[in-house]
Amino acid sequence: MKFIKPANLKELYEITSKTKKNKHYLAGGTDINIQIKKNIIKNSTIILINHIKELNGIAEDGNYIVIGSTTTFQQIIESDLLNKKLPFFQNSLKNFASPLIQSLATIGGNIANSSPTADVVPLLLVLDAKLELCSKDNNRIVNLKNFYLGYKKFILNSDEIIKAILIPINAENGFDTFYQKVGSRKALSIAKVSLAGLKKLKNKKIVEIKLAVGSLNEYPRRLFLLEKYLINKKNTEIDYSEIRDILHKEITPITDLRSDKEYRFEVCFNLIKKFFM
Ligand SMILES: Cc1cc2nc3c(=O)[nH]c(=O)nc-3n(C[C@H](O)[C@H](O)[C@H](O)COP(=O)(O)OP(=O)(O)OC[C@H]3O[C@@H](n4cnc5c(N)ncnc54)[C@H](O)[C@@H]3O)c2cc1C
Repeated sequence: MKFIKPANLKELYEITSKTKKNKHYLAGGTDINIQIKKNIIKNSTIILINHIKELNGIAEDGNYIVIGSTTTFQQIIESDLLNKKLPFFQNSLKNFASPLIQSLATIGGNIANSSPTADVVPLLLVLDAKLELCSKDNNRIVNLKNFYLGYKKFILNSDEIIKAILIPINAENGFDTFYQKVGSRKALSIAKVSLAGLKKLKNKKIVEIKLAVGSLNEYPRRLFLLEKYLINKKNTEIDYSEIRDILHKEITPITDLRSDKEYRFEVCFNLIKKFFM
């Protein structure tokens, strides 16, 4: 195993452009250190990134709140700017892991580790977040909803890093919000199911709706079919048997150590009911 600590962002891009294969970034290390210890990652180049200033911090930039990829969950939870502009996003993350893990774990690491259970991803999906992906020769902005391709697969090129996360500054304005993560206990718990939702009502009708789930597919994702069904409906017009049918098409829960697929399906269904009833 080879560890490299680039002096700055420019040097990081030089290194990533030269080291194409078998390379990983170490930000907070809360996922990757476990993978190294368990020999899941071996004979690799590990590039340290959490000391690089340009990758860290939370700022307002035009129509967006820009969060550097190595910003920790502690910084997110303590940010005055987020408290003012995106309080739903901030409050929803207050139960992330534990205070110790919050002080190390980064938002970029949560996205790039690409676990179906990643807590921040359903929240970012309903807020229509974008990612800034950068390399030595290229910068591009992509919608988070297009980032994942399958289980632990995403569109990041081998020389790219996630530089920042962009959230529209008005993303929460005028919406009723919902976020619930169901785990085995309140703290230090990996999600069995999570649901994030935003809805806007006019004359009792749903005029805007965004729903995203975690732990129910190969990666967290928006429930676009369900959103289509719910749009322009009053709460009283929602047929929950139709919701069940749509959910069967849109989520693919699995049975694992934490719970079985039938339980996950019912919990997801109940969370949706809770948001609308
Ligand atoms: C005890 C414990 C409790 C946990 N609880 C939770 C929880 O409640 N919810 C939850 O979602 N997760 C939880 N996790 C998982 C973990 O803490 C998070 O996924 C965390 O956000 C990972 O961030 P990191 O900075 O530590 O990533 P690292 O371990 O440093 O990196 C993880 C992966 O992301 C890649 N990566 C990191 N940064 C970038 C970047 N900028 N660009 C491209 N790739 C990058 C690395 O190459 C690596 O593959 C927990 C972990 C532990 C050990």
